[in-house]
Amino acid sequence: MTAERNNVTNPRAEITSKIAPVSFKPVEKPQAVSAYFGCNTFKEETMRSMVSEATFKAFKRWQDEGKVISKEQANEIAEALKNWAISCGATCYTHWFQPMTGQTAEKHDSFVTLTGPGNAIERFTGNKLIQGEPDASSFPSGGLRATFEARGYTAWDPSSPAFIVEVDLGKTLCIPSIFVSYNGDSLDKKLPLLRSDAALSAAAVELLRLFGNTEASRIFSTCGPEQEYFLIDDGYYRLRSDLQLTGRTLVGALSPKGQQLEDQYFGSIKERVLNFMNEMAEEAYKLGIPVTTRHNEVAPHQFEVAPFFERSNIAADHNQLLMDLMKKTAMRHGLACLLHEKPFAGINGSGKHLNWSLSDDYGNNLLNPGETPEENLVFLTVLVAIIQAVYRHADLLRASIASAGNEHRLGANEAPPAIMSVFLGEQLTRLLNNIRSGEMTKVSRADIVSLGVSHLPNLTKDTTDRNRTSPFAFTGNKFEFRALGSSMNISTAIAVVNAVVADSFNDMTRRIREATACSGTDFTKAVFGVLSQVVKESSPVLFEGDNYSEAWVREAAKRGLPNVASTCEALAALIKPENIALFERQKVFSKSEIVARYHIWVDIYDKMIDIEARTLAEIASTQVLPAAYAYQTRVGDSLETLERLCKVTNKAAVDDRRSFFEQLTNDILYVHRNIAELEKMIDKALELDEEKRADYYFETLKPQMAHIRRHIDELERVMPDELWQLPKYREMLFIA
Ligand code: ADP
Ligand code: MG
Repeated sequence: MTAERNNVTNPRAEITSKIAPVSFKPVEKPQAVSAYFGCNTFKEETMRSMVSEATFKAFKRWQDEGKVISKEQANEIAEALKNWAISCGATCYTHWFQPMTGQTAEKHDSFVTLTGPGNAIERFTGNKLIQGEPDASSFPSGGLRATFEARGYTAWDPSSPAFIVEVDLGKTLCIPSIFVSYNGDSLDKKLPLLRSDAALSAAAVELLRLFGNTEASRIFSTCGPEQEYFLIDDGYYRLRSDLQLTGRTLVGALSPKGQQLEDQYFGSIKERVLNFMNEMAEEAYKLGIPVTTRHNEVAPHQFEVAPFFERSNIAADHNQLLMDLMKKTAMRHGLACLLHEKPFAGINGSGKHLNWSLSDDYGNNLLNPGETPEENLVFLTVLVAIIQAVYRHADLLRASIASAGNEHRLGANEAPPAIMSVFLGEQLTRLLNNIRSGEMTKVSRADIVSLGVSHLPNLTKDTTDRNRTSPFAFTGNKFEFRALGSSMNISTAIAVVNAVVADSFNDMTRRIREATACSGTDFTKAVFGVLSQVVKESSPVLFEGDNYSEAWVREAAKRGLPNVASTCEALAALIKPENIALFERQKVFSKSEIVARYHIWVDIYDKMIDIEARTLAEIASTQVLPAAYAYQTRVGDSLETLERLCKVTNKAAVDDRRSFFEQLTNDILYVHRNIAELEKMIDKALELDEEKRADYYFETLKPQMAHIRRHIDELERVMPDELWQLPKYREMLFIA
């Protein structure tokens, strides 16, 4: 039935009546993924076939040893890259970088150069490949660069392959780049990540040498980010300015059915969504993004996609690209992809689980416990060093995931709490307890789970069980940092994890050297002695129980673990003197770089809340209240009628209507009065400096917004469906 036939004028109803699957022309015989995987990336073998052997070798040396290529070699690679891009249909190129907003940035230039009046050729030089100079004055720099000296440079990052972005009417070559100021300060998310990988590598190699490992020459952090997201019909999205402007619903009553039945998790995927997922995967594969796992998540219309893990810097680029193409692909399917951490109050939000490990240049995973972890001294040392890092630098880890969006999740009984702790699982916990007490007995391992049915195979057991509530959990052969927000650029979290682990490796190396300095000491015994000491010191951070429980909050406080709810307070850890010293020691951030980031991220928080508050005020004043007044008049009229007709015959009915009218009137009054108050708060906040403003937002303005929301949601619950303008949860989350 169409909206017209129903004579409906409500925009929600109109959208709802029009929602239909978007139809696509199916491909007759789809190609195998392997036939086109990475076709839009400039692969190493492509480069190799297009440049001289010497140049290719120089390029590899640049990647492996950081020895920069010559100008001639850069010209040769640029020529090859241009020819490849043009053969794919590209007309423009851009350095593609990640400023401190956490988004990606691009400024396109054409390959075309004029050779005379009316004549043009395509040209691209090594200079242009290696360095770009966008007029970068409008990116946040936190004081690292004043607007009048706006120069910012982008520089090619040869460790991440160039790629082509295509739309129906053209293609653009994107060159992954870092972004620095005139003085060489990092103005981006990427350079600190690259530096942190170098720090981690140096520290890990030094540690490995103590154990007689002379082979590994580089260690890389590896990363597989699991990405959660929501999809809703684009028609609803367009009717919600809060979703468009802030990424989340600022008002909206809960649907009677939400996620109570848990029938969405891993459920059968709707056709429309599966179409989206298939196209998203195809686009990702073309870009060499190895997405693999996909499924329905816990909340209605919530999903997850996870890639195979890769070296961190590539994984970080790929996650940025993936988020971008998820949004774009959704649009083509008449859907909106929501990446906000908490798009819908009252139901689960979205996170990003950062699976993180370390690998040497031969691909060996340093966190692989092997068959007998108790004898795997390197594994144990690496594991204990990481536990120490989390214990000592819980505040930095918390800071690395702080944002206005994530503030809604952390500690909100669905996401890991803001308290950082480490989960190890039963076997490793027992093992560490033994190490701590100086016992070096073997730990038993129940390897096989019998299913008790003869035609089913037995299952092999992982070294650890899962703990879904832990923010930093060991999951078999990697750690899972589960507290990241879904919309985040993962680079900062990786850079911080790498930096604190590198620092802890350095500490372990020093301690082991000291313990084994006297000739004649038994190396293994000495190492166990160090491990025992470190486990004792760091044990408060180990927690195997339910991280969502109130009891843990109390217990963690007793243990002295930080529990910071507010974003601004969490960010302040970045600029503590000892943390600045750590970043400088590991050469991940200079003092001015980290101080700049602190200011930028507090400022972004402030601006986000300001935008949210203004959006709420606008929605209340221009959509909610006008409808509520109309309804108030309607109820008032009917009350008058009842009074006239039934005052004597049915007083109860009159009283009932009056009480409803009064309740409605009260909600309207509260909304209106509190919006007026909110508007004053918005102005007042602007008079405060950025940190005080953030505190004010957290302590005063956000509760005010929540208060207004409660009254608006009350109105939504009682007002006639046809008067309510904003798409409801029960529509957005169930109809597509
Ligand atoms: P879960 O069961 O936790 O939802 P998924 O299968 O969804 O797990 O995701 C696990 C992620 O961990 C994948 O992206 C996978 O590639 C990644 N991963 C596996 N091994 C490593 C490793 N050594 N380093 C980093 N990430 C890894
Ligand atoms: Mg998963």
